[in-house]
Amino acid sequence: MQGPLIDTLVRQGVSRRTFLKYCATLASMMALPPTAGRAMAEAMAASRRPSVIWLPFQECTGCTESITRSHSPTIEGMIFDMISLDYQETLMAAAGFQAEEALHNAMKDNFGKYLLIIDGSIPLGVDGAYSCIAGRSNLDLLKDAAKGAAAIVAMGSCASYGGIPKANPNPTGAVSVSDIIKDKPIVNIPGCPPIPVVMTGVLAHYLTFGSLPELDDKGRPKAFYGETIHDRCYRRPFYDQGKFAKTFDDEGARNGWCLFELGCKGPVTYNACATTKWNGGTSWPVESGHGCLGCSEPDFWDAGSFYKALSTPANPLKLAATATVAGAAAGVAVSFANRAKKDAAKKAHQPVTLADLEK
Ligand code: SF4
Ligand code: SF4
Repeated sequence: MQGPLIDTLVRQGVSRRTFLKYCATLASMMALPPTAGRAMAEAMAASRRPSVIWLPFQECTGCTESITRSHSPTIEGMIFDMISLDYQETLMAAAGFQAEEALHNAMKDNFGKYLLIIDGSIPLGVDGAYSCIAGRSNLDLLKDAAKGAAAIVAMGSCASYGGIPKANPNPTGAVSVSDIIKDKPIVNIPGCPPIPVVMTGVLAHYLTFGSLPELDDKGRPKAFYGETIHDRCYRRPFYDQGKFAKTFDDEGARNGWCLFELGCKGPVTYNACATTKWNGGTSWPVESGHGCLGCSEPDFWDAGSFYKALSTPANPLKLAATATVAGAAAGVAVSFANRAKKDAAKKAHQPVTLADLEK
């Protein structure tokens, strides 16, 4: 067992101010009350680094790339100092028998306490032969590792919903983690790939409160997936004014008009891209000129029509009846109707600032 986290952070030169700022930002992103930032800081500083085992299954390594391609030093980098990442094939130095031994020891020494992260889907076809590690199928590995897990994080759309491997005709018989494991708490963090700060935010919540955050009906943390891309899109005023780019290089596109008619699925996609952005808050897909593909919704690849508008924007509420992204259509009408309510509710919690924490 490692020492308290604060010892590790101090050794690595992380200042109290930086740590408080990180916790304040995280609490604010999760729409927690102002006092939560300090509470998170205290809980995280005193906590011991929990064992985390990360198993990659039928995947492209995009999720790992996402969480590691962060600027340095970063809050994402900090979170890696807050956990004991005991097994992650892509990141660990060990290989072969040494790697297998590390996995075995981590599972045995931390039985019942470790956090299990899975990225990639689980292929069931041909007795799981499509994806094996050390001669064992992903299905076998998942069932074995899940037994001793306190909770499971399904990282990315493949682990959450099957993702692209499960897309029609699903040649490998791919399924999601929750299709297999029914007796453990599971949080889905979908996205292709998921946003780094969302991944680390969920881990930080687990460290602070010892439990998974509140989830929506698709198993996603509400703090990050509670609103649609469209709810918070900076191009939204143009949508409301009926100003739409018709091609990717017309005057409307150059003026930053709404990408709805170019196929943007923001109105039916729940994710935090519009608020957290990507690459350290530099930009995000819609800001760089491309519509949202809906990658954090189940079966987004089969829904397709990436460059086809959902419906006529003249009557946004009609979208609910015609949206093509499976399972998300009703969200359009709901998101419009609830937007004012959500804004009012959020105002009840003033944003957490560093000043609040340093009082
Ligand atoms: S349709 Fe897309 S580009 Fe237009 S406001 Fe909504 S999310 Fe933004
Ligand atoms: S903008 Fe849409 S498609 Fe792009 S990463 Fe965010 S949720 Fe996925």
